[in-house]
Amino acid sequence: MKNNRKSSVAKVIRPAVRQATAALPVVPAKSRRLVFGGKWDYAPAPESSSHIAILPRHDLFIDGRFVAPRSGKYFASVNPATEQKLTEIAQAGAADVDRAVRAVQEKSRELAILESMDGGKPIKESRDFDLPMVAAHFFYYAGWADKLNYALPNRRPQSLGVAGQIIPWNFPLLMAAWKIAPALACGNTVVLKPAETTSLTALRLAQILQEAELPPGVVNIVTGAGETGAALVNHPGVDKIAFTGSTEVGKQIAAATAGTRKRLTLELGGKAANIVFEDAPIDQAIEGVINGIYFNQGHVCCAGSRLLVQESIYGTVIRKLRDRLQTLRVGDPLDKNTDIGAINSRNQLDKIRELVHCGVEEGATLEQSACRLPAKGYWYPPSFLTGVTLSHRVAQEEIFGPVLSVMTFRTPQEAVERANNTPYGLSAGVWTDKGSKIFHMVNQLKAGVVWANTYNKFDPTSPFGGYKESGFGREGGLHGLLPYLQPD
Ligand code: NAP
Ligand code: MG
Repeated sequence: MKNNRKSSVAKVIRPAVRQATAALPVVPAKSRRLVFGGKWDYAPAPESSSHIAILPRHDLFIDGRFVAPRSGKYFASVNPATEQKLTEIAQAGAADVDRAVRAVQEKSRELAILESMDGGKPIKESRDFDLPMVAAHFFYYAGWADKLNYALPNRRPQSLGVAGQIIPWNFPLLMAAWKIAPALACGNTVVLKPAETTSLTALRLAQILQEAELPPGVVNIVTGAGETGAALVNHPGVDKIAFTGSTEVGKQIAAATAGTRKRLTLELGGKAANIVFEDAPIDQAIEGVINGIYFNQGHVCCAGSRLLVQESIYGTVIRKLRDRLQTLRVGDPLDKNTDIGAINSRNQLDKIRELVHCGVEEGATLEQSACRLPAKGYWYPPSFLTGVTLSHRVAQEEIFGPVLSVMTFRTPQEAVERANNTPYGLSAGVWTDKGSKIFHMVNQLKAGVVWANTYNKFDPTSPFGGYKESGFGREGGLHGLLPYLQPD
């Protein structure tokens, strides 16, 4: 039965194969053997290329555009199957490679230059501090975006909604990053108001967000002065206000949001004590004092603007401070050798002058760098005031300029009392060779951040914020996520 069926199938197949074989092109006997060895040959089936338009010449693709090579050279691209020349391709020379590499770095460089042009800070600070910190903040908070359940285990974190954010002019782009990054990581949308005198880098950041295809409406930037800020604070659709600026405006915002459902965080002013003990490594401490007050022209909320020196080393410290002051280079913010740039605005310059004048009137002695100041622009020489007492305005109020108020103390307890004798509580510095003294001081200083044997050190993983009139809420680190999430 089985054999019968096999033979009848064979009867049908055999003539069919014969016919198919006859239809094959005549091939040499050798090849034909191959065909009958179980493989089929194919009819030619070339893909059509008639609709592929190849330009006769291709340029370099740099910074989002096709550009002719500076080398002026092109080479042929050939179809290896036919040796036919398809097109000419640009040959990038060293200058073209350089242009392309620069285009990649350009954003950071461009933002740093713009920041120095708009705000007056030295390029070495905007390039080496502000911009790397901006990137680090976005990078750090981007990391939390899909891990909020691990950041706050068992608390089912939910976003708040619309965050209204108001920032000052001293670290324009960095403050924008401090505000925008955690808000977005927690799933909120943002309406940001930069300071009137420094809006440019925030607006440039908006262009970058556009290029990155952030969905429309997620980040909004409204420019203007205090009135614009107030309109944002009072808008009923805003779920949270994050403010960095003066204590005076902070108080107004606290009053405006009181009794509403709006959440609020305030990062306000400071009048930090930088405390130098007699056992401190003096030269290192002097560098810390210089950095603490003259960084960013002293336009720093956590600036070490009150120097507390132990009485026994007062003479040495003042002599070294005076010498070091003369080496600071004041001038063009875009010059890479500049240590101290321009004062941010005429208003701020007037405020510095007024407070220093008041300090001298009240009995303090003013020492200033003998540097020559540029004829045009807003400038103030690095300065310090000695003979300052706790009741002087320059010991209590923020000068927010390159002016240090120097006072003395005898014992650690007196240092603590003097350091805490301020309505502010943002930061402090302690310089001593003794670890135990550091712990003793840190526990008694009422300040959000205390640096020991260093100053002005920042990291996106580390929370920052104040006590008392320096505000409430923290930015940075895990703590910086909480103000942008619903309470459980
Ligand atoms: P500011 O006058 O308080 O201004 C801060 C921001 O608030 C600016 O964008 C400002 O707009 C806006 N603003 C002004 N009046 C407002 C109002 N009634 N309602 C809502 N927004 C309003 O402070 P600043 O003079 O720019 O900055 C210097 C102060 O900020 C210093 O006291 C400093 O200590 C503090 N600061 C604190 C921190 C911190 O982290 N704690 C950081 C940086 C600075 P316009 O500038 O356009 O008028
Ligand atoms: Mg202002």
